[in-house]
Amino acid sequence: MTTPSASTSLPPSGTVLLGVPVVPGVQYGPVIRPGRLPVLDDEGSSETAEADRPAEAARFKAAASAVATRLRDRAAHATGAASEVLAATATLAQDRAWLGAAEKRINEGAPAVRAVVGAVEQFADMFTKLGGLMAERVTDLRDIRDRVIAELNGLPEPGVPLPAVPSILCAEDLAPADTAGLDPTLVVALATTLGGPTSHTAIIARQLGIPCVVAVNGLDAVDPGTMVLVDGTRGTIHVSPDSSAAGEAVAAAHRDAELAAQWSGPGATADGHPVAVLANVQDGAAARAARQTPAEGVGLFRTELCFLNRDAEPTVDEQAGIYAEVLDAFDGHKVVVRTLDAGSDKPLKFAGHPDEANPALGVRGIRIAGRNPGILQRQLEAIAAAGQRSGNPPWVMAPMIATAEEAKEFAAQVRSHGLTPGVMIEVPAAALLADRILEHVDFLSIGTNDLAQYTMAADRMSADLATLTDPWQPAVLMLVAMAVRAGAAAGKPVGVCGEAAADPLLACVLTGLGVTSLSAAVAAVQGVGAKLAQVTLQQCRDAADAVLTTATAADARAAALAVLG
Ligand code: PEP
Ligand code: MG
Repeated sequence: MTTPSASTSLPPSGTVLLGVPVVPGVQYGPVIRPGRLPVLDDEGSSETAEADRPAEAARFKAAASAVATRLRDRAAHATGAASEVLAATATLAQDRAWLGAAEKRINEGAPAVRAVVGAVEQFADMFTKLGGLMAERVTDLRDIRDRVIAELNGLPEPGVPLPAVPSILCAEDLAPADTAGLDPTLVVALATTLGGPTSHTAIIARQLGIPCVVAVNGLDAVDPGTMVLVDGTRGTIHVSPDSSAAGEAVAAAHRDAELAAQWSGPGATADGHPVAVLANVQDGAAARAARQTPAEGVGLFRTELCFLNRDAEPTVDEQAGIYAEVLDAFDGHKVVVRTLDAGSDKPLKFAGHPDEANPALGVRGIRIAGRNPGILQRQLEAIAAAGQRSGNPPWVMAPMIATAEEAKEFAAQVRSHGLTPGVMIEVPAAALLADRILEHVDFLSIGTNDLAQYTMAADRMSADLATLTDPWQPAVLMLVAMAVRAGAAAGKPVGVCGEAAADPLLACVLTGLGVTSLSAAVAAVQGVGAKLAQVTLQQCRDAADAVLTTATAADARAAALAVLG
């Protein structure tokens, strides 16, 4: 196995690049890469000669129409909120008002690129002044501007391109907003140069159910169009492999997945010890997809992901509608709604984040409510309204709780809305004092992604530190064990909703530690449930005991494998 040097020359055929495996599965296909944002400044360009202006206007209209058609195609391939966003953007791309303003500028002599920049800024100013919903369209309008300019300049579409054949998306890193409309039948795997096992690229890949490898050394040098084999189980990227061997590897992975697909729930070990297997979702569409699996409920509804593109806070009524969609999808089943975990790598424009040198350690999650209590109050009002509307009152939990005092205040607010309060255990301080926190709340949910980040003092987005943020780190599992023990002593449920619960082997170890539920991305539900059904509670307990005596993540994995197979 060869590992490329730091040079940026193209890796030779057969090279195997190494990364951190985060979503299992194997896929083979051509590389696609997100296009870069176009340069907007063409002030140096000269006026178009009068005779050439009709042709320049036609060139502009063809570019705008190509962009709108592509967005409409993507909307047709996407589902739920993503499809609606893309369809609305396609409509805006054909809006006569800004198209007319750009054409007018072209007819007055501006080259098409300058006309597009000018017309879009004219409307962006107008939308901003109008405020509210109109102001929220400014981002979409600028996105259209970038796409039309790229088309005019013959450059690849900015953002994630729409491939003609199933492809492997390779990038430095991917923001949640970049990937909103990804179609898992066309983007069949993800690989990134940056990111850790709990980065949002990994979370999105799990939600889409596609293999993913992050922190891949040398990936930047692999050009678009190169055929690669992504192995999300081993964490490897084979560059230009033998095509028949690659085809066989993909087929073998599919056979394994088919075995997992036969599991039909409910979550239990082979000897019948129940552990609820739940789903992590981010909107109604994901919840409806989760309902098609044996998932017994929703263990984590990441509400902040509904609002990443919003400039203004959605009204209580609009929020209630969005939350009710998830509750309706799991009518009569447990749904745990998490209040906004805004900040750090998921900033929300309307949350009023301060400028901070170190946002992961700053005003994030429940801490937002300290500066802006109204945001939490209105969200709880909306969650309670959604519960009433759907007849399925949810459990509600706060992210980033660090002290028992914070848990007490949050619980009082949640109870005043007639809802069941809980908190996430993501900060080591909260794991250490879980018994005191449980005096105030009815349940705990362990967020192993942030718990690993804060226990190991290692940024979950850092590729260099990916082995430290591995949820198999024994120090992280010791803290999980503490919180679970506190739950058992208080007779209150303790689940895991971080990515650790999506790793079938680690899910068995967590069961052995005593967790009462495992909440994983929809695509991981079958694999987790199927693995759990193959082992006994005693095996899970033996594996947990063995893991807690190890000193490294690799030894912890090996110890669990030795017991659980
Ligand atoms: C976690 O930290 O484990 C978690 C589930 O929250 P998020 O990944 O959304 O930060
Ligand atoms: Mg978290």
